[in-house]
Amino acid sequence: MTTRVAIIGAGMAGLAAARRLTAAGIEPVIFDKSRGLGGRMATRRVDGLQFDHGVQYFTAKGLRFSALVEDWCVERMVGEWFDGGFVGTPAMTAPARAMADGLTVVGGRAVTALERGASGWTVFNSAGVADAPDNGAFSAVVLAVPAPQAVPIAATAGVALPQLAAVRYAPCWALMLAFETPLSVDWDHLRPHDGPLAWVARNGTKLGRRGGRETLVVHAGADWSRRNLEATQETVAALLEPHWRAATGITSTPTFAAAHRWRYARVEETAGSPFLWDKSSRLGACGDWCLGPRVEAAFDSGEAMADAVVAGLEVGRAA
Ligand SMILES: Cc1cc2nc3c(=O)[nH]c(=O)nc-3n(C[C@H](O)[C@H](O)[C@H](O)COP(=O)(O)OP(=O)(O)OC[C@H]3O[C@@H](n4cnc5c(N)ncnc54)[C@H](O)[C@@H]3O)c2cc1C
Repeated sequence: MTTRVAIIGAGMAGLAAARRLTAAGIEPVIFDKSRGLGGRMATRRVDGLQFDHGVQYFTAKGLRFSALVEDWCVERMVGEWFDGGFVGTPAMTAPARAMADGLTVVGGRAVTALERGASGWTVFNSAGVADAPDNGAFSAVVLAVPAPQAVPIAATAGVALPQLAAVRYAPCWALMLAFETPLSVDWDHLRPHDGPLAWVARNGTKLGRRGGRETLVVHAGADWSRRNLEATQETVAALLEPHWRAATGITSTPTFAAAHRWRYARVEETAGSPFLWDKSSRLGACGDWCLGPRVEAAFDSGEAMADAVVAGLEVGRAA
């Protein structure tokens, strides 16, 4: 019988783990609360507009991730926006879609609980058992969600992963703006040094996105986002307006404006190890929070997690 492992989270860490498990002959089943893939490698589509409102670009330094990015570039799923800064094409979610190809992904409901019985793990969501149809229990579970979201799930399983509590994230308010006519500016992205903004990007300057309406993605910095964490989207959009105008010099009026809060955006304090693994229960956890606030760190963590699962299950089989 095929060994199955449940992976909670279809972001880069969960997908990297799933691919590596598949290569080892283990069948991953991925659960995500969202219907989309990629987690914070996100693309918002609204009113015929498209915004990468999470990850703006990613870097590739290690051998394994660099090789994968190179393949994606050849297949035109990824392109270099600027020297060393890669983006998914035609949207930031493109690499996640490619990674999920051929995998079982159960999307659209948050996993709320895990239960371990004699035959393995069962995964629950608000509708009850969240398992893919016609299958038995899972040999292991991997939580590939931000650490603060992993804590309550691990608690339902009765497994203590104490390192999760030490992880700290900075939030980020993202503002998406569209303009009827092209902006007469000569930059693709800015990093404002003064004021509350950390980043402004012209989304349409990224590869594969030209031809649409002019769109901007504005990110507030961590301090400002933290101070205004519970503000409404409308308030945030209004509060940030004078700042993006000052940073960019743009005077025209946007025809579309919407804010999005990333409660867990960039890791500030990591767990300091590539993954967490509870050997006796076969519950693991991985994500960017293990190694650093980058897509590549999430990938490395996911792969290391999968190797630990493979090793753990082999031990289990031999026993
Ligand atoms: C605004 C912003 C800008 C960023 N900019 C950059 C950048 O420029 N470059 C860079 O390298 N990195 C950047 N990052 C960081 C990068 O996004 C992350 O490091 C990386 O994508 C994390 O991947 P992950 O798989 O660990 O987590 P995620 O991408 O967060 O994936 C976790 C998944 O788990 C799912 N999930 C959560 N809870 C549950 C549940 N209970 N049940 C089921 N599913 C659940 C979520 O829906 C999500 O799909 C940025 C992040 C943000 C938010």
